[in-house]
Order: sequence, then C-alpha cells, then structure tokens
Amino acid sequence: MLQQVRIAINQDTWVWIDGKDLGFSVASIKRWLRHTGNSDERFGFTWSKWVPIKCNIFMWRAFLDRLPTKMALLRRSVPVDNPICIWCETYDETIEHLLTGCGIAAGVWNGISSWCRIPGMVVFHVSDLVEMHEHYAISGNKKTVLHGIIIIACWRLWKARNEKMFSCKDTKVADLITDIKALGFLRYKHRFKRGVVDWERWCSFDLM
Ligand SMILES: [Zn+2]
Repeated sequence: MLQQVRIAINQDTWVWIDGKDLGFSVASIKRWLRHTGNSDERFGFTWSKWVPIKCNIFMWRAFLDRLPTKMALLRRSVPVDNPICIWCETYDETIEHLLTGCGIAAGVWNGISSWCRIPGMVVFHVSDLVEMHEHYAISGNKKTVLHGIIIIACWRLWKARNEKMFSCKDTKVADLITDIKALGFLRYKHRFKRGVVDWERWCSFDLM
C-alpha cells in the first residue's frame, strides 16, 4: 500500500472519494450514492417532505431498526431490567412491536384509519407503515399527506413510550391522536405547498 504513496512538499488537503470535484459537495455525495450500488432496499424508504425533519429521521432509524428499544439494547449487551413492553407488559419490546403489534399502536392506527377514512389499517412491519400510503385508492395529495401522518404518528408513539418509561406518564390513545392531528395540521398549513385548509376540514381529512 505504501508503495503507491507519493510524498510531496505541498500542504495536505482533503480529497473527496468521488474524485471529480476538488471538495465535498452535496451534489457529489448524491452522485456517489446513486452510482456505487447503494440502491439497497434499506435506502428505499421515501422521506416525507412536509413533516418535521426529526420525524423523518426517527422513521429512518425505525426502518433500519436502529432505535434503542429494550431488545435492541440487549442485542448490544446493554443491561435492561426486563425486555418486556412497557405498555402491554406482555411482549418483548422491539420497534416492530411498539409501532405495529402493541395495543396502543393498534389503537392509534384505528384512530388514523377512521380519521383518514381508509379501511382498517393492518400493519405487521415497519416497512408496511412507510409503504401504506401507496396501497390506498386515494388522490395524490391525500397519499402524500397520509404518508406524512403515518410518520408523525410513529414519532409520537416513540415519544409516548419514552414519556411512560422515563417520566411514568400514562399513554392515552385519544391524546396521541389529538397530538398527531395538531402537529400534522400545523406542518401541513405552513409547509405543504397546497396546504390551504382549515382545522375542521383537516379533522375530517377533507383535502383537495
Ligand atoms: Zn406492548
């Protein structure tokens, strides 16, 4: 390896692996990601453009199973009191269970199902959640909004789990639905280009 190294008297500089540009740029990393076999399905989750970035990042971590659930901590040999879900106290706490299998999650998906007027949402995996908007015969705008609402809901579920775990705050499905609606409304109104809608219409999912 060292035989390939040429030492010169110039000052050292950083060189981006892509090699074409002198320095790092977002465009060059985009090019690199697209052309170096990184089209792995792990990268196939579509981010929602109108929801808070923290929700997208949360969803991405959930999608990759990179959140510190009890089972994930145990996998990394981090001691936890028990592996059991703090809500149902029955099943092991995995991200899949928290977002899809647990009764609290089922309650949230039921609430969103009736709010968004879509037939019973059946979810088994985190990947079902990020693809769900594609499976309903709803208009393009509603599809985009539903995708964002699901991401916000997942983020809110994780937040509720942390509140229960670290502050002993009880989780109520009705409160979660209210928070998801409120946060969604604020973001939709201010960030979504076609977001001209009032609270009543938002609550009945009456969007253009
Ligand atoms: Zn549970």
